[in-house]
Order: sequence, then C-alpha cells, then structure tokens
Amino acid sequence: MSINFRIENTIATIEFDQPDSKVNLLSSEVMKNLDDILEEVRNKPEVKALVITSAKKDVFIAGADIKEIEGIRQIEEGEEKSKSGQNILNKLEDLPIPTIAVINGVALGGGCELALACRYRVATFNEKVKIGLPEVNLGIIPGFAGTYRLPRLIGLTQALKIILAGKVISGTEAFKIGLIDRLIPQVGWRDHLNKFIEEVTTKSEKRRNSKRKKDFITFLLEETKIGQTILFSQSRKNVLKITKGFYPAPLKAIEVIQKIQGLPRPQALQIEAKVFAQLVVTNICKNLVRVFYLSENHRKFLPPGTESIKVKPIQKCAIVGAGIMGGGIAQLLSSKGIWTRIKDINYDAIAKGFQAAKKIYQEAVKKKKLKAFDAANKMAQITGTLDLSGFRNCDFVIEAVVENMEVKKKVFQELSAAVSPETILCTNTSALSVTEMAQQTKDPSKVVGFHFFNPVHRMPLVEIIKTTFTSPETLAASFALARRLDKTPVLVKDSCGFLVNRILLGYINEAGRILQEGVPIEVIDKIMSDFGMPMGPFTLSDEVGLDVGVKVLHILENNFGERFKPTDIFEKIYSRGFLGRKAQKGFYVYKDKEKIPNPEIVKMLGEIRREDPKKKLDTDEYLRRMLYLMINEAARCLEEKVVETPETVDLAMIFGTGFPAFRGGLLNYARSVGMDKIINDLIQFQEKFHSDRFKPNLYLWYLK
Ligand code: NAD
Repeated sequence: MSINFRIENTIATIEFDQPDSKVNLLSSEVMKNLDDILEEVRNKPEVKALVITSAKKDVFIAGADIKEIEGIRQIEEGEEKSKSGQNILNKLEDLPIPTIAVINGVALGGGCELALACRYRVATFNEKVKIGLPEVNLGIIPGFAGTYRLPRLIGLTQALKIILAGKVISGTEAFKIGLIDRLIPQVGWRDHLNKFIEEVTTKSEKRRNSKRKKDFITFLLEETKIGQTILFSQSRKNVLKITKGFYPAPLKAIEVIQKIQGLPRPQALQIEAKVFAQLVVTNICKNLVRVFYLSENHRKFLPPGTESIKVKPIQKCAIVGAGIMGGGIAQLLSSKGIWTRIKDINYDAIAKGFQAAKKIYQEAVKKKKLKAFDAANKMAQITGTLDLSGFRNCDFVIEAVVENMEVKKKVFQELSAAVSPETILCTNTSALSVTEMAQQTKDPSKVVGFHFFNPVHRMPLVEIIKTTFTSPETLAASFALARRLDKTPVLVKDSCGFLVNRILLGYINEAGRILQEGVPIEVIDKIMSDFGMPMGPFTLSDEVGLDVGVKVLHILENNFGERFKPTDIFEKIYSRGFLGRKAQKGFYVYKDKEKIPNPEIVKMLGEIRREDPKKKLDTDEYLRRMLYLMINEAARCLEEKVVETPETVDLAMIFGTGFPAFRGGLLNYARSVGMDKIINDLIQFQEKFHSDRFKPNLYLWYLK
C-alpha cells in the first residue's frame, strides 16, 4: 500500500509511503486510494483534524506519475484524468475539519497541489524542502487545481511567478510569501506539529500565515480589473521574451488564470482541465517528457566499471589559465565550496580571471540569488599564483590554457612533476587529443578530459573524455566532481572535437557557406532562432570568439578533411581581427546593448558574393542544409562510438548548445522529420553542391 492511514486520539493521519521507491508519486492508483481514505475521514465525525505526511526521507510527494502523463493520447482521457484528480482534492478541501500537510522535502506538481488543497501547510526546516508547480517544464499546466488555488492563496503576482517559470522554492521562501503557514524544526517535528494541531483545533485560534504583505502597487495590480489586465499582459510579454513563443504551456497558464479570476470553483476547474488536456496530448509535451527522462536517467548514469568505486570528497582544485574559461571554472568551483588556486603567466591575466569570477557573483547578488556576504566568502576561496605552489595539495587540476597542443603538452609535463600521485589532471580542450596530453605525464591513468561549455556557470553540460589510459577511479571521481558542480556529465571517447563541437562546427561552417552565397548574416541567424536555437550561428560564433572557432575548425579539418575546412569568409574575417563580442566586433558590431551586422563584413561579402543578388532566398533549404549536416555528423559520431547512444547525442545537444528541448533533441527531431526524407535531401544536396560533406552516413539507416 502506498498510503498508511491511522486515527489516534481523534487525529487522522495519512502517510504516503510508496513501496520500493525513494519518492511518493500520485499515480491513478494512489489517488483512488486517497479518495477512499478521504471518504472514510468524511464519515467519521469523531475525527478532529487530518494530517498528511510522508514516510520518505526528504520527499513529501514528488508529483504525478509522469509515465501516466506520457501515456495520455486522447484529449478526453486527459480531461478525465485532470477532473478525477481535481475532484479528489476538492474532497480534501471540503472536509469540515482542519487539514494539515506536513512538508518534509520535495512537494512538486501534484504534491504541491495536494498541499494547496489542505487548510494549512507546515514545512520542516529541511534544506531539501522544495515546493513548486513545474508542470510548464513538461509542456502542460497544473491540472489538479493548481492554477485555481495557488493565486488565491499567495496572490496573483507570486503565483504567476511560480507557475509560469515552473519555479521551485525553498521552505523559507514559501513561508515568506504565505504558501507555508509554519516552519518547524526537523528534530522533534512531531511535538511541534502536535502543538500546531492543538492551536488550529482550538476554534479561537486561526494559524494561517499572515506574512504576505501587499504593498499598494501589488494591491492595485491584483485587486483591480485594470491592474490585473496590466499584470497579465506584462506576464505574457515576459513569457514571450523568454520562450519566443515556442513553449505554449506558460501562455496557456496565463490564459487560464486570467479566465478563472472570480469564477466559482466548478467552472474554474473545468477550464483548467480542458486546457491541461489540450496540452498533454501535444508533441511538445511528449518531447519535453522525453527530455525529462533522458536527464533523469543520465543523472544516475555511471561509466561501466565505476559503479562500486567509492570517491573521496574533493576539497581543493587548481586551474591553469585564467582566461574566459579559467575564470568561469574558478567561479563554479568556489561556488560549491571548493578551494581553487588559479595560475596564469602574468598578474594581469590572473586579474582578468578574478574579474570574470567576480562579475558572475555580482550578477547573482544583483538578482538576489546570493547574499553579498556569501559572494565575498566564496570569492575568497579563489587564490592566484604565477607558479605551481600549492598544486601538490590539489585533488583536481583543470588545464584551460590556449588551444595549442605544444603549449598544453608543456603544461602537462610541468603539472605531472608538481602534483601528488593522487591528483587528477584534466584538460578543458575543445578539440585536441587528451591521449597526447596524458602521454606527457608520469601516470596517464590519472588524466581525463573535462570539457565545460561557455558560459561555464550557465551551460549544464560537461563532456568527460576518457582515453584508453584513463582509470575507472579517475572516471568515477570526474563524474562525481561534475555532479557536485550541478553539471550533467556525458562520457565521450577521446576523438577530435569530441561530440558537441564536432556537430556544432560543421553547422557553423555551413552557415558561413550560405553567407558566402549572398544570404545576409541576420537572415541566417533568424532562420536558426526561428527554429528554436537560443541564438543563430553568427551570434554564437561572436560569443565564443572567431579565433576559437577557426582554430577548432582547423583541428577538425586536419583530422576529418575537407568538410571542416573553414570557409574563406571566416578566414578573412579572422585575419581582420573581428573576433566577436570580446573585440566588440565580429559578425556584428556591438555598441551598448545594440548590435548591427558588421558593415565591413557586409562590404566584403558584396565583393565575394557567389550568387545572383536578385535570387529569391530559399530559407527552407538553408535550414535543412544546416540541420541535416548536424544530423549526419551525429550519425558519424555514433558510428565511431564517440558516444554510445542517440539519447546521449540528444541530451548533449540540448544541454551543450541549447538545441530546442521542445523538439526532444537533434535525433528525435530527425526522426520526427523522417530519416528517409533526410537521407534523400542529403543525396540531393550532395549532387547539387558537388560535395561529400552531404554524403549520408550509413548509420542514418540504423537510426530509422
Ligand atoms: P583564453 O585565451 O581566454 O585564455 C587562456 C589563458 O591561458 C590566458 O589567460 C593565457 O594567458 C593563459 N595561458 C597561456 N599559456 C599558459 C601557461 N603556459 N600557463 C598558464 N596560463 C597560460 O582561452 P579560453 O577561451 O578560456 O580557452 C581555454 C581553453 O578552453 C582552450 O583549450 C579552449 O579550446 C577551451 N574552451 C574554450 C571555450 C570558449 O568558448 N572559449 C569553450 C570550451 C572550451
């Protein structure tokens, strides 16, 4: 049984405890069980209060069962599921006795909605308490009356913030906005709960949290018709700015919350159920659920042979190279309480690394994600050096010097002599051979690639590159470090460009070819951002730096040949020093917050244009050329076993490049188009452009 039920001294307790599971989920079966118990409580007039708890450590209820959400194919079925859940929670809300949810950990989605249907919510002082309605992340809206109850409890402004962003908040934050009525200590929580029950069952005492202060502006926005119109319209604008309209769920959530303002419960919930049902059957929902599973499964993934290895906690790390990446990695390590020593060739360079780290902390303080005092403490965990002093005490050293094999080899020789035999040596190289670097050291089994993406604090992916020498212990420690840094590690074979850069650079190079044909920079960028990429290829190139891009293209060209030869225009622009944002000039010219296509490049293009300027732009063909080259390169990577599965490609492309999650990943998108069509188009492109870069890889047939 997933629910234990007992009545002691007129107090009924429902305790969720799903067998053989670390979490509680609200499956249909559990909901039915809950319904029966609520019926029993309703028919027992001697019961004075109902407490809802969980027997799981750090989990109240993690949400609805996503497998069931995934399985809904018909709108009617979706509506039925939503209504059935709503009815059961209505029964809970309508009990004439005080009902108290005791939240001791994660209370998400349906778990949060169940707590909202209680009269009171108590949370323990447990840092694992996380409350929220993250449904929009799965392409749906809350379907168990969350859109109805949350705004009524904490006000429209706060509720919209939580529902539209799928935001998850701590117990303390929840208390501050009135979502929680009381915070109680974890130790002796039962005594504190009993005291609370006593208070709420004493009629004179109402223990609702009245913390929520409404300033005058909030009052106007929430309580007047015109204020609400402004609030909803502003929310819509904010959502569109973030989602660019690709994710319908947050917009639908606004629509529902706006429509149900002031409506009686039955009508309001009817509207919620209808919209939930429309969304749950969409491909976007199914794709987002797929991405959720990919990342959940990956969270538990351990490289074969490392499963039973115990990893000792990492305390000290060092970084060589305080550039764009070194500074970012230093900030990330220190943010997780790891002492970080950073080495460069002069003090100016070290200062730049410090400034880069400080800037990230300052942004976090500005956004109120971190207190200034904590930011200062974390910054103090970073120290700078011009030599390798202190490196002997480090658990990990991450090399992030310029992308040049000779320089990197020398660094590895020096490091090998300076560190302890226990120290793991990593390289953040974008494309170079980790094996060659490992061979410079006394113990190559301790060397691994640790490829972060830029900007380090935002991009969730780390490619962990295993050479034939890398020991299982080194791999296990590397995976543990990546997870401690809240990154998603993927295991990648030591092969030129690894996975993500190899796929991405072929695409950026193709964008360069299309540019040379006479298609404007901003048109090509728009094609890709309209597809859902976070930015177009030239904006991305400007962010990364054209020097890095061209260097990596040459490395790929040396290994894989012609298809990675940088287009002429890239070489030309590079030689002119238009490196991108860091030079304020790349494909675009950057001034304050504005950017315009670089007029000098536009002029250059006029001179080398290869096609008739009056020719109509075939944006669909450009899109297919860029995307299908990525898909073809992914197939090559799978054939060469750079990674093991198509799922890893999808996850890595979403987390490493921002490939649109609503499309379920690169290869999931390919399947939705149809592999036959992609293969045919590639063959046509191969003939049209007389180039083997489009030659379909055999593995595409396996992916059908
Ligand atoms: P960068 O040019 O910004 O910084 C490199 C730093 O290394 C400079 O501060 C330089 O002074 C220092 N350096 C050079 N030789 C050194 C030595 N012998 N000892 C100590 N310091 C030395 O470069 P970056 O963009 O931070 O890239 C660093 C590494 O990370 C490269 O291998 C690059 O391919 C990789 N990478 C870059 C990105 C990116 O987007 N920039 C993304 C992922 C990986």
